[in-house]
Amino acid sequence: MKVLSKVAFASLLAASLGSGSALAADQQFVTIGTGGVTGVYYPTGGAICRLVNKGRKEHGVRCSVESTGGSVYNINTIRGGELDMGVAQSDWQYHAYNGSVKKSFIDAGPYKELRAVFSVHPEPISIVARKDANIKHISDLEGKRVNIGNAGSGTEATWNVVWNAMGKTNKDLKLAAQMKSSETPGALCDNKIDAFFWLVGNPAALNKEATTTCEANFVAVDGAAINKLVDKYPFYGTTVIPGGMYRGNPNDVPTFGVLATFVSSTATSADTIYAVVKSVFENFDAFKKLHPAFGHLTEKDMVTKGISAPIHEGAMRYYKERGWM
Ligand code: GLU
Repeated sequence: MKVLSKVAFASLLAASLGSGSALAADQQFVTIGTGGVTGVYYPTGGAICRLVNKGRKEHGVRCSVESTGGSVYNINTIRGGELDMGVAQSDWQYHAYNGSVKKSFIDAGPYKELRAVFSVHPEPISIVARKDANIKHISDLEGKRVNIGNAGSGTEATWNVVWNAMGKTNKDLKLAAQMKSSETPGALCDNKIDAFFWLVGNPAALNKEATTTCEANFVAVDGAAINKLVDKYPFYGTTVIPGGMYRGNPNDVPTFGVLATFVSSTATSADTIYAVVKSVFENFDAFKKLHPAFGHLTEKDMVTKGISAPIHEGAMRYYKERGWM
């Protein structure tokens, strides 16, 4: 039996219901690229889609999420036309748009069709170490077995920037592992690695998993080299991993980070993006309740902070209607 694609099925259904039907033939199927399932990008994509799909009878946009390798993968895959939207760190939104920073984006050149939609939660650098590895500061990672992030993650790309800014290369580690994020708590607690590095919103299910499965501590990311880096770029800011959020970590741990942002490209229509942003901001209280990392979000911050690429035309239309631009 021939299996109809979802789009073909939708248009058949629309035809059988007549053109005035809400299930119009021009129904849009859009996919959001996220990250590992125990991170915060995946539930962020899920929260956005949930609100979009609630209104799909009115606007015809049907949204789904995909678990992916993270920021750099999402941007490159939007560029390749295989994803419509994605979540990406603010530093990689900047570097993709400007074609800056070595292998990640320079080769492909500036990605001028990249569009910012809004920013979401802060993503501090989180280094979680086995207690018995005695790692208190990022510089203690030297000579250790560290998961630096899978290829295509914003995590790995930012690791290289930070570790190089400290005058080090991966040769200074005993092991530079590249497991995907969801595998790292198991590897840590099985003593296959001493620590893992990543950028993620708090609280993250994965950080909870690591700190409740075995004895693990967060590691300070501060000092002269870090201050220099944070001062140099507008998309970095100092912050803390809040004390008491994770088992065995009662005190604030200093670190720095970026913002998670929601991006798309000029290839995704203004009407689609308009429907997406409207779904989020008309249901803003519901959105904030969909993940604890969203608790402190404000509309103003989301449309002004962490934005390096031009704002998508469809998002701008909605922000102007609300008087935000
Ligand atoms: N910031 C991470 C990355 O791009 C992903 C974090 C998450 O999955 O929540 O690699």
